Amino acid sequence: MMDFAIGIDLGGTFIKGGVISQKGECLLEKSTPTESHLGGETIFKNIRHLCQNLRDEFSEGTIKSMGIGTPGLVDQEKGGVVSGAHNLPGWLNFPFIHLLKADFSLPVFAHNDVTMMTYGEYLIGAGKGATNLICITLGTGIGGGFILNKSLYEGSSKYAGEVGHMKIRHNGRSCTCGSKGCWEAHASASALVQRAKEKKIYKENENSGKIIFEKVKQKDPASIKLLKSYISDLALGVSNLLNIFNPDIFVIGGGLSGASNQFFEPLQKKVQDKTMEAAFNACCIKPAILGNKAGMIGSALFSLNQS
Ligand SMILES: [Zn+2]
Repeated sequence: MMDFAIGIDLGGTFIKGGVISQKGECLLEKSTPTESHLGGETIFKNIRHLCQNLRDEFSEGTIKSMGIGTPGLVDQEKGGVVSGAHNLPGWLNFPFIHLLKADFSLPVFAHNDVTMMTYGEYLIGAGKGATNLICITLGTGIGGGFILNKSLYEGSSKYAGEVGHMKIRHNGRSCTCGSKGCWEAHASASALVQRAKEKKIYKENENSGKIIFEKVKQKDPASIKLLKSYISDLALGVSNLLNIFNPDIFVIGGGLSGASNQFFEPLQKKVQDKTMEAAFNACCIKPAILGNKAGMIGSALFSLNQS
């Protein structure tokens, strides 16, 4: 008998949910606005409603558990997020795990969203078969997750993976954490947009990192220069991680990573220049393949493997 779980990926704008088989197939998928500006109670109601709809419409088997990926640091015993999640007002300390358990009479497990994405890519995505995997995602910041010796590495207080706040400059660009020179302040997708606007390469209404590839195709010199500098900053952080952890697979997710010719090849070359030869040669750097499904697939499989 096949086991199924509900996987939820809580984002700042949308909540994505799916019914996932133990093999990682997505059999049913739905999403709903997060409405984060209305506070924790509303976010929770939206999650619960999405879970109810998924459970009611799914008829091919029995749902065994629920997994939820959320921004921030999750404390499973306390039942919610105990740190971070600044983009979700009222979500901190909201005991959604306990409430969902009571409502659905199912085991419910939650973890950080990037950790869940890493877990999904590790089990059935670009990181499949890795012994040591690092997965990063380029978005508003740079999130990271680690699989070391084939297990999820969480750190002493489950805070491992904050790769975005690795310093790559002394007195560099200001970061949301209050520090300067953090990797994500230079090399997240948002940092690329910000840098393009400062250089007047982007217009005020251009807000996607991917637009830079169009401008480079049109041979705009300022865009070519910026993309080169951006990739160099991104490579610095990747190289640091390769030298420290010596992973066999390094997965990069987020919208930018799909642009293979203009992004991946120059990035790999830059990383090679900056990395110890033995560490670079041991590692395959790849784009993520589960796209925006990685979080919900990882969450569902995480819950099945815990319960
Ligand atoms: Zn920072």
